[in-house]
Amino acid sequence: MTERIGTTCVQGGYRPGDAQPRQIPIYQSTTWKYDTSEHMGKLFDLEESGYFYTRLQNPTNDYVAAKICELEGGTAAMLTSSGQAANFYAMFNIAECGDHIVASSAIYGGTYNLLAVTMKRMGIESTFVSPDCTPEELDAAFRPNTKAVFGETIANPALAVLDIEKFATAAHAHGVPLIVDNTFPTPVNCRPFEWGADIVTHSTTKYMDGHGAGVGGCIVDSGKFDWMAHADKFPGLTTPDESYHGVTYAERFGNEGAFITKATAQLMRDFGSIQSPQNAFLLNMGLESLHVRMAQHCKNGQAVAEFLQAHPKVAWVRFSGLENDPYHALAQKYLPNGGCGVVSFGVAGGRPAAEKFMAALKLAQIATHVADARTCCLHPASSTHRQMNDDELAAAGISADLVRMSCGIESTEDLIADIAQALDTI
Ligand SMILES: *Cc1c(COP(=O)(O)O)cnc(C)c1O
Repeated sequence: MTERIGTTCVQGGYRPGDAQPRQIPIYQSTTWKYDTSEHMGKLFDLEESGYFYTRLQNPTNDYVAAKICELEGGTAAMLTSSGQAANFYAMFNIAECGDHIVASSAIYGGTYNLLAVTMKRMGIESTFVSPDCTPEELDAAFRPNTKAVFGETIANPALAVLDIEKFATAAHAHGVPLIVDNTFPTPVNCRPFEWGADIVTHSTTKYMDGHGAGVGGCIVDSGKFDWMAHADKFPGLTTPDESYHGVTYAERFGNEGAFITKATAQLMRDFGSIQSPQNAFLLNMGLESLHVRMAQHCKNGQAVAEFLQAHPKVAWVRFSGLENDPYHALAQKYLPNGGCGVVSFGVAGGRPAAEKFMAALKLAQIATHVADARTCCLHPASSTHRQMNDDELAAAGISADLVRMSCGIESTEDLIADIAQALDTI
């Protein structure tokens, strides 16, 4: 039986047996005990799977990762302490000093800094391309040492919709995987693997948790990328890892398991950005209602976007559910049931008017957050994206008057009334 996505949200990952707890148990333990050193040695050698230290793996985390893996249609997944850790691990797992990454310029500010500043300092360079580039322009961004292509299904906060097939085609033509950050639509609204993406990342901090309760991340592998077919590009996966008992990940774990096993055995071992089992439990509570919440987020986003578009004090509105939005056609292809509840717009009168509007909101809260149950809003140019100069802001699709409103799951009429009264104060 092919299960619908809502059923996987509720019951995926953990299926209790007879007389077992219905809710996933929280394994609040650093370590596991074994009767013999030999048994534990087999675990260390990756000859047997099992648990010994929570920095590497924990059953609570694995249940939740398994649910997200099922939701995305992948073959293996791991939780991380944050979305930043997920994106860093996903890229650093296959790119090292001297390598290069092609990335969409319309991405989350933190990911932009990770690539442009911190990974560059580690010797990994990035070329940023407009998500709207032609296939030729995209092709020209590749170098012989390019190891991955990166983009966001719906860019935070630019709200550009990624043409996943275009980016996947280019990546595969150059023998490298496409990594897609699917945080905003979640697998409820888009499953990037169905369009050719190879690896998906999440900031579970957003809709997946959904309540603003816990920071977290996740990496999911589609199992479709053939590492051995491009063995020279990915020696970390296709030659023995001397730091892990000489294991060759792609041989031992196949395309289905190599990527996540290496990221766990090497990167989690050495960097340790594990999610706490408590937070994984809370994340799972959020996932149980993800499909129900996403529908209300999208409904509110659509209603707010339509209201704003018709309002004389609003200069422009960006929401891919609007028919005149530049990404409407891509949204109809990749996000037929809606994208997310985040709306960007410019208040007529620019920066000072935007600040006045924000201060007058009563229901919508000013917060460096998006995508939880409570409506919140942000002025990126003066907060999250302040590291960028005006040219970089423009390249990322952000203007100085941009207000990002993340529509929660409150009653639609109340949200619109709040926005209306705040616009009236200008
Ligand atoms: C928030 C966010 C991140 C970073 O995630 P954290 O959980 O805050 O570390 C990465 N990508 C996108 C699209 C995000 O919205």
